[in-house]
Amino acid sequence: MVKTQAKIIDGKAIADEVRAEVARKVAERAEAGKPVPGLAAVLVGENPASQVYVRMKRKACEKAGIESFGYTLPADATQEEVESLVKELNADPKVHGILVQLPLPGHLDEEAVLNAIDITKDVDGFHPLNIGRLAQKGRKPLFLPATPAGVIYLLEHTGVELEGARAVVLGRSNIVGMPVALLLVERNATVTICHSRTRDLPAVCREADVLIAAVGRVEMVKSDWVKPGAVVIDVGTHRVDDDSEKGYHLTGDVAFDEVAQVAGAISPSPGGVGPMTIAMLLQNTLRAAEIADEK
Ligand code: NAP
Repeated sequence: MVKTQAKIIDGKAIADEVRAEVARKVAERAEAGKPVPGLAAVLVGENPASQVYVRMKRKACEKAGIESFGYTLPADATQEEVESLVKELNADPKVHGILVQLPLPGHLDEEAVLNAIDITKDVDGFHPLNIGRLAQKGRKPLFLPATPAGVIYLLEHTGVELEGARAVVLGRSNIVGMPVALLLVERNATVTICHSRTRDLPAVCREADVLIAAVGRVEMVKSDWVKPGAVVIDVGTHRVDDDSEKGYHLTGDVAFDEVAQVAGAISPSPGGVGPMTIAMLLQNTLRAAEIADEK
């Protein structure tokens, strides 16, 4: 057992609290005779990781009392077929949230598919309008993307002071790095975004009071990349083969054992952002049902 100095940010426990709260509110809705929130998950093709994610999300819905509808289209589905399914779901009153599992097969126009989702059902928060609002001062998206929202939730729940903090986001993807950076700016952090062309990454990371690793590289962030006492959130998720009985273990973008000796607080992977992503999706689906109540 490695002795750590950092506070461990337990994403699983925090996500369980959020999920219990969602389940409580869903039950209250039922008692009040309001419709059960419904989430439609659209999967195109047979990407094994996507299949696992969709299964986990649907299971979590069921546990929270949210109805879940699964739609699987073949890998060679046409743009028209995917968009027409999305439009059908837009019109279905039992479906409050629509989740199109990304990435889509390469022949499909992802932006056009996301654009086709009714913005009031965009529980993944990837509709260009929702992302656009996130990027503009004083505008509020209807939904925040689940993983970035989970990162911020973990930070705020841990009592991390973001106002005026130096934050470094490692990664600039549409689904994680960029929205996380925008959310941190919105909370008045001073944000640096790093990517594959950033020079002297360790030195930039060492300036961070808050370091978010969403780089997709196994245990790339080492202890000498981290300022003593900094808060580190590991978004990375990797399955690494080993000679254990299971044949693999899960890890993140951060070399946890060594970074935990230096950081002030750290969210591990697994057990950090992953469970939060699902919890935030459930929260968004409940919110979508509440928005539908007002339509
Ligand atoms: P992605 O689309 O591959 O983006 C990776 C980002 O990291 C890019 O901006 C890339 O720079 C940058 N990068 C890659 N290699 C680099 C290097 N050597 N030095 C500096 N920057 C580098 O990945 P993603 O979808 O954002 O996901 C990131 C990680 O989070 C993955 O491990 C993924 O599995 C995980 N993830 C977890 C959840 C969850 O729920 N827990 C959800 C989504 C993703 P360029 O832009 O220059 O290419």
